[in-house]
Amino acid sequence: MNIHEYQAKSVLAEYGVAVPQGKVAFSVEEALEVAKGLGGQGVVKAQIHAGGRGKAGGVKLAKSLGEVETHARELLGKTLVTHQTGPQGKVVKRLLIEQLTNIQKEYYIGLVLDRALGRVVMMASAEGGMEIEEVAAKTPEKIFREIIDPAVGLLPFQARKLAFSIQIPDKLVNKAVKFMTGLYTCFVAKDCSIAEINPLVVTGDGDVMALDAKLNFDDNALYRHPDIQELRDLEEEDPKEIEASKYDLSYIALDGNIGCMVNGAGLAMATMDTIKYYGGAPANFLDVGGGASEEKVTEAFKIILSDEKVQGILVNIFGGIMKCDVIANGVVAAARQIGLNKPLVVRLEGTNVDLGKEILGASGLNIVAADSLADAAQKMVAMV
Ligand code: ADP
Ligand code: MG
Repeated sequence: MNIHEYQAKSVLAEYGVAVPQGKVAFSVEEALEVAKGLGGQGVVKAQIHAGGRGKAGGVKLAKSLGEVETHARELLGKTLVTHQTGPQGKVVKRLLIEQLTNIQKEYYIGLVLDRALGRVVMMASAEGGMEIEEVAAKTPEKIFREIIDPAVGLLPFQARKLAFSIQIPDKLVNKAVKFMTGLYTCFVAKDCSIAEINPLVVTGDGDVMALDAKLNFDDNALYRHPDIQELRDLEEEDPKEIEASKYDLSYIALDGNIGCMVNGAGLAMATMDTIKYYGGAPANFLDVGGGASEEKVTEAFKIILSDEKVQGILVNIFGGIMKCDVIANGVVAAARQIGLNKPLVVRLEGTNVDLGKEILGASGLNIVAADSLADAAQKMVAMV
């Protein structure tokens, strides 16, 4: 789960991580109210679940209340298109009005879980404010890493080493260490999957603080963080994904035109790869899970079809725990209920596969049966 920058900053502040003063505003009036508290000026920042706002005109510096008003008026309700939003952009509904900070230099600090190492890794770079992916691709030597042992946490010497590597001014190293320690403590305590501070800044007043903050949380651990769950902003999420989560379906919307219904995450990945291999593009990732019922299959169909980009559906199911005849009945029922008028290719394998195929064949629906994943993908790609 993702949260907004202003929310991330308030979570971080609980752990002693320094952030600029500021507050969320939902209207121009609220924005002015916050700016008055900041001495009549501030930075007006669009709050959307995406980065790259600065370059896209979503971060505006205001030297007077008049400028705060102009920027707030312009940004609220605006569709902001950044390199992370996709071409459709995101509508700005909230602003963060924040203290105008005197930036001396921008740095980068990030925490991620390295799955291969099984460890949390802290990354730091003096190339702050830039896209870190670009730094990693072009000048990987400019990113420094410390691997953290969960038994002891981030040790002070590791934080100091990072601070020296990215050339934090000597006088401010202790503040940087406190910052990094707080960030790591927060990451672990809140079950984050990503924490990214880009930029971390050193200010003219000798402070070390987070000017931007991105926190991402492990969905599987959210049950133990009701305070974080409350920060969820459903308006920032894909309505199809919200609907899918109600039925316990793992659904991720993608850009292509072939809807996929698959059981098992691995098989779903393989299905998307195979579609790509034959020149097609998947419209979604969808894992209906091991014990999908007829109802679940029907809901999955509805969600796939609510995506206007979908021109055909490929069903690829392995009947292991679940039997192929149950799936076939679900597919037929769903296709009838929805009045499916798009090409449908079904590949079934496993328990009761023959019975499943019989059901599909006898349904009178225009369903194309496939014998293998390659066969299914080729047929589907040819049809769309
Ligand atoms: P994004 O990563 O979405 O572009 P940031 O929050 O990183 O948004 O802001 C982009 C840039 O705007 C920062 O790199 C910084 O230079 C500037 N900026 C952001 N917040 C402030 C602030 N409070 N005071 C001064 N400059 C800021
Ligand atoms: Mg940023």
